Amino acid sequence: MNRYVAIPFTSELEGRLDGIANGEHQYSDVVRSVWEPFFDDYNSAKENAPKQQKITDIPCEECENGLYIVRRSRHGEFLGCSNYPECKSLRPLTEEGEPATPEEPEASHYICPRCAKGTIIKTGPYGQYLECDGRAAKDCDFRTGIPVDISCPECDEEDKNGQLVERSSRRGTFYACWNYPDCTYNTNSIEPANIKEARPPEEREAARKKAIERTKKRPKRRTRRRS
Ligand SMILES: [Zn+2]
Ligand SMILES: [Zn+2]
Ligand SMILES: [Zn+2]
Repeated sequence: MNRYVAIPFTSELEGRLDGIANGEHQYSDVVRSVWEPFFDDYNSAKENAPKQQKITDIPCEECENGLYIVRRSRHGEFLGCSNYPECKSLRPLTEEGEPATPEEPEASHYICPRCAKGTIIKTGPYGQYLECDGRAAKDCDFRTGIPVDISCPECDEEDKNGQLVERSSRRGTFYACWNYPDCTYNTNSIEPANIKEARPPEEREAARKKAIERTKKRPKRRTRRRS
């Protein structure tokens, strides 16, 4: 960042400001040429700063010699094992800053849409989620948010068993089918009067193809695992 106090930089900038005054340069071009590199430097300095981590004396519950470290995500703080990535143990924090004891997984009445096994509700650092019973045995990796007890209007046939789950985006909460990307149905409201109707088959198929392309291109983000 030293560049910004260096004399050549200042005089160059003054030269360009003079350029604006006599109409040689566009104001916005000058501003952009100065600020864009500045923000690039600023962002990379921020990324390279060592991540502040607070190590606790709480032993990891899943490996032999790990200790929990307080880690930050944009959702708040949680505990992660010091042996990450070898050990991926995560624990939510209570409001008092203590590790929350993991709740016993709770059986749910939903049936896994991929393998028809039962499902369980678990609690992770970002709240509750639902996963397939077959996950522990690595038979099926289905995992999703908590269903809201409303079948998907576009794929509620028995073999697809679509259910709406609550999701959140930068724009707020919405409800989407747990069969995404195979089903792209989503709605902002699940109130009977405002829930979005099923789309015509052609429209669904086009959206499905697009969503599958998109998931192929983008490597799956493992949001639950990393800060
Ligand atoms: Zn561990
Ligand atoms: Zn399953
Ligand atoms: Zn669906």
